[in-house]
Amino acid sequence: MSFPAPLRLRLDGAALIANWKTLDRLSGNAATGAAMKADAYGLGAREVVSRLWAAGCRDFFVAHWGEAEAIADLVPPANIAVLNGISEGDIAPARALGAAPVLNTSQQIGLWKASGGGRCHVMLDSGINRLGIGAEQIGGGLFDGLDIDIALSHLASADEDGTQNAAQLRCFAQMAGGIAARRKSLSNSAGIALGPDYHFDLTRPGLGLYGGVPRAELDGQLRQVAVFEARVIQLRTVSAGTPIGYNQTYVCTHAMRVATLSIGYADGYWRGFSGHGMARFGDAVLPVIGRVSMDLLTVDASAAPALAEGDWGHIDFDLPAAAAMSGLSQYELLTGLGRRAERRWF
Ligand SMILES: *Cc1c(COP(=O)(O)O)cnc(C)c1O
Repeated sequence: MSFPAPLRLRLDGAALIANWKTLDRLSGNAATGAAMKADAYGLGAREVVSRLWAAGCRDFFVAHWGEAEAIADLVPPANIAVLNGISEGDIAPARALGAAPVLNTSQQIGLWKASGGGRCHVMLDSGINRLGIGAEQIGGGLFDGLDIDIALSHLASADEDGTQNAAQLRCFAQMAGGIAARRKSLSNSAGIALGPDYHFDLTRPGLGLYGGVPRAELDGQLRQVAVFEARVIQLRTVSAGTPIGYNQTYVCTHAMRVATLSIGYADGYWRGFSGHGMARFGDAVLPVIGRVSMDLLTVDASAAPALAEGDWGHIDFDLPAAAAMSGLSQYELLTGLGRRAERRWF
């Protein structure tokens, strides 16, 4: 016997695939990979990688070796790239696993060469100044003897206009032009919308696959993938003047039907939704009232007279709107999704 979960994350597999296909079409002649780090941005890496592989995606990017290991029975390990590179302790298990490191520093390059070399990728820092080989470090035979598949770089401000994107494009083209790599890759989701100059051989969207919209050009082209459904635990009618929740941040202005749902900030429904978020029951909109608790959420259910204890409220989680509502980024909303919700793909 098992307990029915009181909170579900409904995950739309068709939307995930449609988003990958849209980004692949927008990537023009470039192949389109997938950023899968942080458990596919919180959605569940194993479910995501299988679906994307079936749709035709062949290049998967994770941050940690443990994340590569977690999906290496589902796709050929050689198709997984580990963005954070290697440390001494990673070498032996990395070679046993067969995923390819993204080498980020001259020390990582040295480690890889000393342990026998073989196929790898290299990260060039074209201006984010966070991780990668800087332009000033190239030369002196740094890359000699490496079997480099992808030379990649990462855009710092692809979600904005301004001069940095073009500057990084120029810098990357120049740096990568002098390196014997089979493929070049620069763009994340937002970078794809910057146009063909930014596509090179391979793009690496993450956010857009999972329903995030980083640039206006992508508005209306990407579908929401994740939706919370939380069970109604309690329904009460309270009188005008009744304070709701911690620190009585909301006081009922009139007699009201209050529903308490089984979701809270421990599930990644953060405090920023307090007083701003929205649940739905059928067509009825149920505004969040009072503060989001760890495990509970209170909503004004006056608009849904048919709602009963045990029913399911859908939580508005369209990412651009939810980000504006909560003051969090679309990335934080996804990667913060709690592990407690049952993930149900359909
Ligand atoms: C996370 C990441 C991506 C994907 O970025 P999105 O903005 O989520 O599309 C691409 N490349 C690298 C190196 C990353 O770390």
